[in-house]
Amino acid sequence: MKIHEYQAKALLKNFGVPVQDGIAITAIEEYDNAISSLSSRGINQFVVKSQIHAGGRGKWKVYNKNNRDELIVEGGVKFIGSDVNKGREYASKLIGNILVTHQTGSEGKEVQTLFITEGIDYKKELYLGILLDRTVSKNVIMASTEGGVEIEKVAEETPEKIIKVWVDPATGLLSYQARELAFGLGLEGNAFKDFIKFISALYKAYEELDASLLEVNPMVITNDDRILALDAKVTLDDNSFYRHKEYPEMKDENEEDKLELEAAKHNLNYIKLDGNVGCMVNGAGLAMGTMDLIKLAGGSPANFLDVGGTATPDTVENGFKIILSDKNVKAILINIFGGIVRCDRVAAGVVQAAKHINIPVPVVVRLQGTNAEEAKKILDESGLNLISATTLEDAAAKVSASLNSN
Ligand code: GDP
Ligand code: MG
Repeated sequence: MKIHEYQAKALLKNFGVPVQDGIAITAIEEYDNAISSLSSRGINQFVVKSQIHAGGRGKWKVYNKNNRDELIVEGGVKFIGSDVNKGREYASKLIGNILVTHQTGSEGKEVQTLFITEGIDYKKELYLGILLDRTVSKNVIMASTEGGVEIEKVAEETPEKIIKVWVDPATGLLSYQARELAFGLGLEGNAFKDFIKFISALYKAYEELDASLLEVNPMVITNDDRILALDAKVTLDDNSFYRHKEYPEMKDENEEDKLELEAAKHNLNYIKLDGNVGCMVNGAGLAMGTMDLIKLAGGSPANFLDVGGTATPDTVENGFKIILSDKNVKAILINIFGGIVRCDRVAAGVVQAAKHINIPVPVVVRLQGTNAEEAKKILDESGLNLISATTLEDAAAKVSASLNSN
């Protein structure tokens, strides 16, 4: 689960990672109060920051929610100094409008929360990221002097400017590794010492928060030589929620895919993808294999959907509805191996769904295993226009062909 910058900074602060003080607001009416509270803490310059789950907020554009062609303002993050009136005017343009960045796609994201923070004067922007390197089963810390820019760009154009340190889970981050990063970043004096503390705190936070990604871009050297996290992007591992009871309530439903939210309500393991073949499969492995075969046959999967071993006709109907709510879906492939789940239940679900909703696209069905015969009978007698397939290759080829004939 991704969280917002203001949430990430609150978590990091608990581990002693230096961040700017700030207040999150959800309506422009709260702006003046936020400024006065921050002022009463001795803060006299400010930054207004759109809170969306995407990077590049500062460099991209905000469009009118009701007229996507109308540019409202350049930049979803602005340092406003001490000009709080300018800040208010800017904030009012952000809230309720659409911020488009390289990570949001052209549809962008509605800005519903702003983070009003202390503005910092700094002399250098650096990059710092921690994530799991699955190839070596270790966390890797990446640092670069090229802060404030997309790290993907640095990796592509000047990979030598990224320093990497792999942390052995048995020893944790060692002090020589922290120094290696500090030297690599060219730090000296107080910034060097401060960084050692910073990275130790940040690594501890990454581990104890059960984060799977922690990115600070930029991490800055302030004018008085301190190290501070100016930005923070954190992804929390969903599998760790059982030991972080507070995490579920940090979820911003506005940021989640609507269909995935709906699917979760029905206990369906659904992930939306960009293709045009809707897939209904049982078992994660078979679902992955099915997606590969669709791709091989020239199609492109629109989703991952594992209906699970306990699928009832209702589960299947809900799955069907969710697949069809995706307007990109031009054909559906049902691939069920009846081991624990019975094929007849799946067939009953398909028929039930067809009674309640219009299925405007071709449906290819491959049912094998427990009660496959009964299932076939149910489908044959349903009067539905289905294309049946026997092998997996056959199913994938038929669904891809049905796309072309449409
Ligand atoms: P991102 O664009 O989504 O990565 O958002 P960031 O939090 O990284 O902020 C974008 C940019 O806003 C930064 O790279 C800075 O140029 C600017 N910015 C943010 N906070 C401050 C601040 O406290 N002081 C100054 N001078 N600039 C800031
Ligand atoms: Mg940033």
